[in-house]
Amino acid sequence: MTYNITLIPGDGIGPEITEATRRVLEATGVGFKWEVVQAGADVQDEYGTPLPGHVLESIRKNRVAIKGPVTTPVGSGFRSVNVAMRKELDLYACVRPCKSYPGAPTRYTDVDIVVVRENTEDLYAGIEFEKGTPQTASIIEMLSQSSGTQIRADSGISIKPISETASRRIVRFAFEYARSNHRRKVTAVHKANIMKFSDGLFLATARQVAQEYPDIEFEDRIVDNMTMQLVKKPRQFDVVVTPNLYGDIISDLCAGLVGGLGLAPGANIGDEAALFEPTHGSAPKYKGQNKVNPMAMMLSGVMMLSHIGEKENAQRLERAIADVIAGGKSVTYDLKPEAEQSRAVGTSEVADAIIDKLGEQ
Ligand code: NAD
Repeated sequence: MTYNITLIPGDGIGPEITEATRRVLEATGVGFKWEVVQAGADVQDEYGTPLPGHVLESIRKNRVAIKGPVTTPVGSGFRSVNVAMRKELDLYACVRPCKSYPGAPTRYTDVDIVVVRENTEDLYAGIEFEKGTPQTASIIEMLSQSSGTQIRADSGISIKPISETASRRIVRFAFEYARSNHRRKVTAVHKANIMKFSDGLFLATARQVAQEYPDIEFEDRIVDNMTMQLVKKPRQFDVVVTPNLYGDIISDLCAGLVGGLGLAPGANIGDEAALFEPTHGSAPKYKGQNKVNPMAMMLSGVMMLSHIGEKENAQRLERAIADVIAGGKSVTYDLKPEAEQSRAVGTSEVADAIIDKLGEQ
């Protein structure tokens, strides 16, 4: 069987890690027909947008895509391609597993946390009002009249919508994920003590949904306490479900617990399509140097194999990656101890080593 998959190389380090990932995916023996499309600043001039319609069409048609990171210049008018893609395709669940692999330089062993992040609302909804504009002034005036709240006239405003609908959908997704992956517990993360009507609604909804899953333990944590607990005792957590912003921060924290962004895969999943991509960004300073770790994107490929039903090949590829990490020889700089930095290998050599391991299985 051949799978039609949309492949988006991205920019910065994207093309290098995408090529390495494509090679190891093909080495599993699974048949792929890649539809390669590009998004980001590099295509802005050609199509007048960083996210051309044919990219979304390709993902809608194939229903599965794998993507390298795409740069979002800070503070410019450039819309985040990543956020836009998730919104356009309603990829409401961002799933980021953080798992310790023996041999990776980490503070802890046996961490196995899956962060399920709501992907469509919260402060990432893109509802923002710039300082000094008439719209911002009228919102400030409206808030002053309706709630007596005084906001400084020189403020910029970002809106944080959290709906019952999206909260129910993401928490249900987390419980269903827990059930089908034999997980024991779901932890909801929030700041409901301060943001009673947004995070409070998320928490109340999570508690309701939890009652539908008596076989799975449920607890909640306030986000500041959660970050401290994660650093001190990460093994107590299993599946973690959060609104958008906390999920973004917590998934990077969890990546740090298991060896860094080079080992942190991710998936954005909706009812119509799924997009697999590493948690990390385009690391522009390493562009074109054959230096960075392709394993986060390869592990995203493992998630993709599992998603399309190639579970055995997913396990084979994950085992091959784990073997290379455990071997400690053919790994990039981020997985080498300080004293052995000069013996780190490049992105493409990691792919070669994993392909060799697949051949040995
Ligand atoms: P980043 O994740 O690109 O890089 C931060 C640091 O992490 C790097 O300097 C590097 O030291 C390390 N790192 C990242 N990936 C690595 C890898 N594969 N192997 C080894 N080390 C790695 O974060 P940033 O610098 O904040 O973001 C750069 C750009 O990427 C920004 O424009 C940002 O908006 C974008 N971004 C895109 C995505 C995405 O496409 N989904 C996600 C996050 C950030």
